[in-house]
Amino acid sequence: MSQLQLDKLTKVFTDDDGSDIVAVDGVSIDIEDGEFLVLVGPSGCGKSTTLRMVAGLETVTSGDIRLGDRTITDQKAQERDIAMVFQSYALYPHMTTRENMSFGLEESTDMSTDEIYDRVEQAAELLGIAALLDRKPTELSGGQQQRVALGRAIVREPEVFLMDEPLSNLDAKLRSSMRTELQRIQEDLDTTTMYVTHDQTEAMTMGDRIAVLNDGRLQQVGTPLECYHRPANRFVGGFIGEPSMNFFEMTVEGDRLVSDRLNYPLSAETADAVAGSDRVTLGIRPEDIEIVDRPADDHAFETVVDVVEPRGNENSVYLMFGDQETEENPETFVAIVNGMSRVEAGEPVVAHVPEDAVHLFDADSGDALRNRVLDDLDETEPRV
Ligand code: ATP
Repeated sequence: MSQLQLDKLTKVFTDDDGSDIVAVDGVSIDIEDGEFLVLVGPSGCGKSTTLRMVAGLETVTSGDIRLGDRTITDQKAQERDIAMVFQSYALYPHMTTRENMSFGLEESTDMSTDEIYDRVEQAAELLGIAALLDRKPTELSGGQQQRVALGRAIVREPEVFLMDEPLSNLDAKLRSSMRTELQRIQEDLDTTTMYVTHDQTEAMTMGDRIAVLNDGRLQQVGTPLECYHRPANRFVGGFIGEPSMNFFEMTVEGDRLVSDRLNYPLSAETADAVAGSDRVTLGIRPEDIEIVDRPADDHAFETVVDVVEPRGNENSVYLMFGDQETEENPETFVAIVNGMSRVEAGEPVVAHVPEDAVHLFDADSGDALRNRVLDDLDETEPRV
């Protein structure tokens, strides 16, 4: 167990034409001892490269990696007390579960056969695969193979686990149960863990904290709820949350936000927050849009239901400004409403958005100017 620190970590690749690809750009994250940190971001944002640098599988262009009180930036992978679990299980097909799990210890440590036997038994117990120790990989399901791959990392009792999309080969149901199980195992072992995924649901549900990466740059590090309710910028607001936050480009006119479609009045406090800007992006989470019969105040606007996607407990209702038939660019946005509510495609409705729920971002930089008001979330600023 140890604290893992990434300090201005940068990786520049050179492509075939000799031009630079900045895959990871000055990323600094402190991962606490025993913490489960999820590194999340879209494909190509530099997640795997970051993890591979920490593992020692990729050289570092600049910056440092520290584990506990040691700098490990230039150490060989074998010298780092770090175990990595990949998306592909990469089990040896001719070996049993027990052999797959003990192989690394036999090769790289001077542990006795009895000690290795005990470690494998313990890890197999923890992972619920004790009955499968004599089976070969072809006799195991995908989920069981993934557990063996995890077991191989666990028996090493490393200071840090690195996991690169370890659940992505599993079907949706198994993935969801393995998410819970992995969290339980990580909590039991209390090993500092860095987990990479492009799946924001995985990040939200598994991480003590999440680090959001885009284009090689760190956007925000915070608890899942901080990133959800207090996004540091428009990118985080849009990336975290499913369905995504709705965005509207608005002009600031005194104490109103105005567009071709909307005219949204602001309280003095919110108007102050955007006073320096001419243009802002208005962000509204789908669950913050209420569909009402008639406007209760002037934070409401008339729309038409485009499509309703029922999901049982709730419905995604796609709303539209203007008429699908006649408008050249009918702008749509999505609201989440109770599954029992009855609205139908084509129906005109009133959408109400309380001002407390509104996010505002600088139209150019995307930086958050004002996040939704929430009393019960710790009043800390997002850490960037
Ligand atoms: P994914 O979720 O698709 O795996 P990622 O976030 O893990 O993506 P990386 O694999 O870290 O992204 O890649 C980051 C950037 O670096 C990408 O633009 C990628 O094309 C580039 N890249 C990665 N490895 C190399 C390499 N060996 N040579 C050149 N460019 C590379």
